[in-house]
Amino acid sequence: MSDVAANLQDIKARIKKRAEKWGQDPAKVSLIAVSKQQPIERVIEALEAGHRVFGENRVQEAQGKWPELKRKYEGVELHLIGPLQSNKAKEAVELFDVIQTVDRPKIAKALASEMEKQGKRVPVYIQVNIGAEPQKSGIAIEDTDAFVAECRDVHKLDVQGLMCIPPVEEQPAPYFVLLGKIAVRNGLEKLSMGMSSDYEYAVQFGARYVRVGTGVFGARSPR
Ligand SMILES: *Cc1c(COP(=O)(O)O)cnc(C)c1O
Repeated sequence: MSDVAANLQDIKARIKKRAEKWGQDPAKVSLIAVSKQQPIERVIEALEAGHRVFGENRVQEAQGKWPELKRKYEGVELHLIGPLQSNKAKEAVELFDVIQTVDRPKIAKALASEMEKQGKRVPVYIQVNIGAEPQKSGIAIEDTDAFVAECRDVHKLDVQGLMCIPPVEEQPAPYFVLLGKIAVRNGLEKLSMGMSSDYEYAVQFGARYVRVGTGVFGARSPR
């Protein structure tokens, strides 16, 4: 078995174990293998091992590898997990199966208009700036309820859940709990949270998607 296949198997086993221990349904948790800045051979190893759910954080980088891989491997589900500029909305709607980083009205509007043009309704997540960090993307916590409503009612987006990246230097668990509370009061049940260092905690606190890069593929090459 390749390293990548072994890593996937190990992470999936850990997810299952953690979910079962804390009363979460393991069948509802999906592992997003974050393939940004990874050599194509490693991505192919994951595909050959049967994995189908992947994440990329740049539209342009994803355009370089995924159209062809999607043709070769059936059933790929590609998530956009990085910041989106409105001038890339067209490409994002064409390529991605889920867009997790909707965080401002301008992007919501651009995506809605592209989806209408392309006749394609791509599920979206609202990214919340859960640690209120000035340098991070995401809608402010206090603006989230109104923004979710705007995305649904004005832009008619298929809002499925919330996504966050907690502050690196802190315990992630309280932030995962907080994201869950914001989701519940907005009638959303899907949470995208947890990375290589903290995905087990994220599962414990109800993640539906964990986004794991280095844990699956090893260290990233510099851009
Ligand atoms: C890169 C990235 C990840 C994966 O990070 P690892 O620490 O390598 O697991 C998860 N989420 C987002 C938004 C990312 O940009």
